[in-house]
Formats: sequence, C-alpha cells, structure tokens
Amino acid sequence: MTVDVAWAIGWTRATAERVIARRAELNGLDRQIGDGDHGENLARGFTAVVARLDALEEEPAAIGDVLKLIATTLMSTVGGAAGPLYGTAYLRAAKVTGSPTLDSRAVVAMLEAGLEGIVARGKATTGEKTMVDAWAPAVEAAVAATDAGAEPAAVLAAAATAAEAGVAATIPLVATKGRASYLGERSAGHQDPGATSTAIVLRAAADAAVD
Ligand code: ADP
Ligand code: MG
Ligand code: MG
Repeated sequence: MTVDVAWAIGWTRATAERVIARRAELNGLDRQIGDGDHGENLARGFTAVVARLDALEEEPAAIGDVLKLIATTLMSTVGGAAGPLYGTAYLRAAKVTGSPTLDSRAVVAMLEAGLEGIVARGKATTGEKTMVDAWAPAVEAAVAATDAGAEPAAVLAAAATAAEAGVAATIPLVATKGRASYLGERSAGHQDPGATSTAIVLRAAADAAVD
C-alpha cells in the first residue's frame, strides 16, 4: 500500500498490539540488565496512544499528525528512559512528515529524524548497547535501499531487517549508556530491550505498508 495516513494509523495500531503481546518478553530482557519494566512502559504508552487515536474526531491530515500524537502521548505516559527517547524520536519524525504520503526519500528522512531525536536525547552512539544499535543500521539500510530504487514499502522492510540484525548484535556488547551500564562487563551476553522494541516498531511499520 501507499505510505500514507492510513498506513501511519495501521503502523501505530500494529505497534501497540505487538508491544502488548511481547510485554513479558521485553520485561524479561530488561530484568536481565535493567529494572524489568521496558515492556510495561511501552504497553502502557501505546495503550494510551490507541485510546487517543480512537478518540480523534477527524482523520489526521498528515502522517506527522499521527506521529506527533504518539510523541506527546509517550512523553506524558511513559517514564524512565524509553518515554523521552521514543517521544523525541516520534516528535522529530513528525516534523519531517507533514504530508499525506511519503515516497522512499521521505521514508528515509522520517527514519533519520527519529534516530537524530534519540541521539539528541540520549547521546548514545552505536556499540553502546542501546536502541541506537537497532536504529542506526535501520537508517543505513533504508538509505541503501532507496539509492537502489526501492519502493517505500521495501525501504521500510530493509530498515526492519537491519534493525533485527542490530538487535542480535547487541548481545555481546557491554552497555555504556542507560541503566544497563551500571552492570559494566556483566551486561555482555544479554540482548538490549530497547533495541528489541525498536525492531518491533520498525517491523510493524514495514508490515503495515504491505497489508
Ligand atoms: P529505564 O531504563 O529507565 O527503566 P526502559 O526500561 O523503558 O527505561 O528502557 C531501557 C532502554 O532504553 C534500554 O534497553 C536502551 O535501549 C534504551 N536506552 C537507555 N539509555 C539510552 C540512551 N542514552 N540512548 C539510547 N537508548 C537508551
Ligand atoms: Mg527499564
Ligand atoms: Mg524503569
């Protein structure tokens, strides 16, 4: 399908369903190297997002309107690290998606803006065992796919696949940002929860563009 407002709404609902379905798994990952609440945080946030979507009286005019609703809702309902990080990602992404549809370059711009938001907020770079380790390869893959002439749905699929590879690559890393960094070397051998949820979010974006 076209990457349009209906896609953005489908993406949002799919993200909510998946983070709720995988709440225990995300909590479990966070229990290993954090405080065990990552699934809870995202399930609470996206439940609130869907409630606000359902309460809208008019269809949003632009993709960015949907992303802004997500951003403000996550910022006000999710504490901890993930709320402000995802909130800033969606807010930055909203600023570059003020149109009803996105072509491949615009999909790349959206993903780049999201990554920039996370980096601006959390100051992490790749290799620190954070959500950046899923976002950064996703952006890279989206750029490469777009340069190769891929359609928007294929660009999103490439981003999701790269994010999933990025998640697996967090396992051996030692965390140097966020709560997991308190464990030092003992954080190695565990998959990062935030990178995992990033891959869920990006796979939902890709699937929503196919359905
Ligand atoms: P908290 O650690 O406050 O309980 P969450 O459990 O919801 O928050 O989120 C933890 C995730 O946040 C980590 O797995 C990591 O991916 C991400 N994270 C933490 N700090 C940073 C940071 N500075 N930059 C990017 N991502 C980060
Ligand atoms: Mg936590
Ligand atoms: Mg917490």
